[in-house]
Amino acid sequence: MGATIIDGKAIAEEVRREVAAEVARWTQAGNDPPGLATVLVGEDPASAVYVGGKQKATHEVGMEGFDHRLAADTPQAEVEALLGELNADPRVSGILLQLPTPGHIDGPGLTWLIDPAKDVDGLTPVSAGLLAKGRPGLRPCTPAGVMELLDRHDVELEGAEAVVVGRSDLVGKPLAQLLLARHATVTVCHSRTRDLPAVCRRADILVAAVGRPRMVQGDWVREGAVVIDVGINRTDDGLVGDVDFDAAAERARLITPVPRGVGPMTIAMLLRNTLEAARAQAAAPA
Ligand code: NAP
Repeated sequence: MGATIIDGKAIAEEVRREVAAEVARWTQAGNDPPGLATVLVGEDPASAVYVGGKQKATHEVGMEGFDHRLAADTPQAEVEALLGELNADPRVSGILLQLPTPGHIDGPGLTWLIDPAKDVDGLTPVSAGLLAKGRPGLRPCTPAGVMELLDRHDVELEGAEAVVVGRSDLVGKPLAQLLLARHATVTVCHSRTRDLPAVCRRADILVAAVGRPRMVQGDWVREGAVVIDVGINRTDDGLVGDVDFDAAAERARLITPVPRGVGPMTIAMLLRNTLEAARAQAAAPA
C-alpha cells in the first residue's frame, strides 16, 4: 500500500479539543454556554445512536444539550411548534432535526423552519444560498469535515482537479461549492454521468459520496490522487465505504478509511458550528 491514511478519528478529536478550549474561554468571559437542541421523531435505532452521540459530544465540550425525543406518531404540527419554541429560546444556539423522519412528516421541509441563525446542520435555503453566493454562513457538517481533513493535510486546492461523485443536498452539492470557493476545478458526477471511471481518473482530489459499497475501483484512481470516501454502507463484511480501499490505496497519495475517516468529522464540525452560531447570536443586535 502506497497511500498515507488520513486519520479522521484523530483529527476529529483535535477539533473537539479545540472547540472545548474555545467554549471554556467563551464561558469564562461571562457568556452563557452554547446550547445544541436535537429533535428526533420516532425510534429508528441508527438515528437514536447518532443523536445520542451528538448529545454526548455536546456535553463533553462544555455546551448545553437539549435532547428532544418525540413519538413516531407525533403530528407534523407538533414538531413545527417545537421548532418554533427552540427558535425563540435564547439558551438554544443551534437546532438539529435528525433525518430521516417518519413517513407522515416532511423532514426536509421542516428543516426550512429552523431559524437560519441556528441552522447548525447548514441545510436551510438561507444557508445553502449563502454558500452558493460565497458568503459566510453555517456550512453542512459532513462537507465541512471533508474540507477540514484536506486542510489539515495541506492538500493544495487552488487549481486542483476535484471530482465529487454524488450530488445530494447533504454532501455532494455543498462539498462541490466549498471546493469551488477554494479555487479547485470541480466536476460533480451522479447516476447519469457517462464513463464515470474516466472522469474519476482525472481527479487530483476524488470524493465518493454515493452510498454504494466499494463502487469506486482502484483503477479509477489517478496515481498520487487524494481519495476521500464519505460512504457508509452496512454490509455482511461490516461497515464499508464507497471506495475499494485496498486497491485505491495502491495508487492514492492520501486516503480516508471507513470507518475512522470522514464519519467522525461530522459531529466535530457540528460542535464547531454550534459555537460559531452562539458567537454570531451574541454579536447580533437584539
Ligand atoms: P444520496 O442522497 O443517496 O445521494 C447519492 C448520490 O450518489 C446521488 O447524487 C446519486 O445520483 C449518486 N449515485 C448513485 N448511484 C450512482 C452511480 N452508480 N454512479 C454515480 N453516482 C451515483 O446520499 P448522501 O446522503 O449524499 O450520502 C452518500 C453516502 O455518504 C452514503 O453512504 C451515506 O451513508 C454517507 N454519508 C456519510 C456521512 C458521514 O460520514 N457522516 C454523512 C452523510 C452521508 P443521482 O443524483 O443521479 O440519483
